[in-house]
Amino acid sequence: MEGKVAAIFGIANHRSIAFGIAKSLKEAGVQLALNYQNERMGKSLAKITGQLGDPWARECDVTDDAAVDGFFGAVREEFGGLDYLVHSVAFAKREELGGQFVDTSWDGYALAQQVSAFSLVSLCRRAVPLMADRNGSVLALTYLGSEKVVPNYNVMGVAKAALESSMRYLANDLGPKGIRVNAISAGPIRTLSASGVSDLLNMLDYVAERAPLRRNVTTDDVGKAARFLLSDDASGVTGQVLFVDSGYHIMGM
Ligand code: NAD
Repeated sequence: MEGKVAAIFGIANHRSIAFGIAKSLKEAGVQLALNYQNERMGKSLAKITGQLGDPWARECDVTDDAAVDGFFGAVREEFGGLDYLVHSVAFAKREELGGQFVDTSWDGYALAQQVSAFSLVSLCRRAVPLMADRNGSVLALTYLGSEKVVPNYNVMGVAKAALESSMRYLANDLGPKGIRVNAISAGPIRTLSASGVSDLLNMLDYVAERAPLRRNVTTDDVGKAARFLLSDDASGVTGQVLFVDSGYHIMGM
């Protein structure tokens, strides 16, 4: 992976899953292009980028088409193309991540879909021209709440279902261009976004007690699996959801 170029969306701080992925790719010699959502997130990012060798970074809110165009235009200027795209971005209003799903508002539903699912389509559309003849690889982050009911995950579960389905449609669209699209379904990890889900600490304890590996996963666990899926070692794999969750999802009781 030496010298390849990865655009990574979603590092907020040192706890972010995207930070674990960035560290893993950096170790493999990959050049990094990072986004930050806004000025505040840019300051937070700046505190930790030293650990990544101070990579190139640019502001980009994924709901702002002009900003997304600007980001990929700047990547083309800076690096001449792109090999990997990591989508590690999600958002739902805090009030939608607790209580009953039946109370979800249209605004909250639409916002969760726009930021957490549609953005994968939007980013891929801009990334594809930069990946021409480079065997590109795309990775998104999802969660079990897409296919099973997880209390409080609510509107985000529906957004993750849309994200996973989008991943499969994108895999079919982009496969003929040699571009692979996959997702990692991570077990719960204590990050900024996850702390918006009511009762997160109980979820972490519950999984650690019952998952086959009897522990929670770390961002390093996810980073290593991400490196595999992005790399040529996974050259025959596309349209897949790989669970990195200590095996929790296999349990029936
Ligand atoms: P995080 O808070 O560290 O990262 C979320 C990122 O999304 C932040 O960097 C934030 O700035 C970014 N973001 C939100 N809205 C944005 C917007 N409009 N434009 C640009 N960026 C925006 O949390 P995380 O847990 O590392 O989340 C990363 C991904 O992993 C998400 O897709 C999340 O759903 C998924 N995931 C998390 C867990 C978990 O338990 N932490 C488990 C499975 C999947």
